[in-house]
Amino acid sequence: MTRISFYFVTLHHLAKLHYMDKMTKEQRHKCMSAIKSRDTKPELIVRKYLFRLGFRYRLNHSRLPGHPDIVLRKYRTVVFVNGCFWHGHEGCNLYSMPKTNTEFWKNKIQRNIQRDREERLKLASMGWHSITIWECQLKPAHRAQTLASLVFTLSQTFLSINKPKKEYRLNDPDIQIAAEKENPYSSGNV
Ligand SMILES: [Zn+2]
Repeated sequence: MTRISFYFVTLHHLAKLHYMDKMTKEQRHKCMSAIKSRDTKPELIVRKYLFRLGFRYRLNHSRLPGHPDIVLRKYRTVVFVNGCFWHGHEGCNLYSMPKTNTEFWKNKIQRNIQRDREERLKLASMGWHSITIWECQLKPAHRAQTLASLVFTLSQTFLSINKPKKEYRLNDPDIQIAAEKENPYSSGNV
């Protein structure tokens, strides 16, 4: 290694170390959790829940915009499990700007928000429904409600994409039979 490149590498390394050092404990923690972005705990909670209820899915579909965490083809739906800080969950207390390098983080998160928006639009134009679940919505206090509404939304989507083609009219034989049936509880002695 020439002396010049040695100095360059060392300087680069030192600058990086200095930067890491200037990060607060909280920033470092967030940085580290971003590195382990696959199979993070919140995503696992959603996957396990859906699997237990019999939903089948694909993971991190690389050919779809945004590489959604969970892809439910039968429901034409993708699910993103988003970290509140990295994806800028508005009004959420997990999304608070670090006190140092604030501009840097602000720009970075804004770019993520913009990218997320564009990817959702692309997915919609391809006929995919997108559901976003935020990390804070999976905290124990809100988890059950979040998961229940996820399943509700999936069922609604399934019904809407599998609507029967036939339009039933009032004089359809099936409906007439049903209407003529007497209600045993309406005419007895009360
Ligand atoms: Zn949040």
